[in-house]
Amino acid sequence: MTRHVEPRCPLRPADKCSLCHPGADGPHNCGLVYLMMNDDELRELYAEGRRHAREGGSGA
Ligand code: SF4
Repeated sequence: MTRHVEPRCPLRPADKCSLCHPGADGPHNCGLVYLMMNDDELRELYAEGRRHAREGGSGA
């Protein structure tokens, strides 16, 4: 039996991917995620947000 894992949105880690970006099947082919990961400043912001969440922030 396989368990379905809901992917999280890398832009809003507290939320599941809602397929908000047209044409995306999930974070793996989301154009917004692609853009973010190719922008140094946004990528750093994302990394900072993840660090913050790991260090005790609930993200909410
Ligand atoms: S489609 Fe992209 S931006 Fe929208 S929720 Fe999913 S991963 Fe996030």
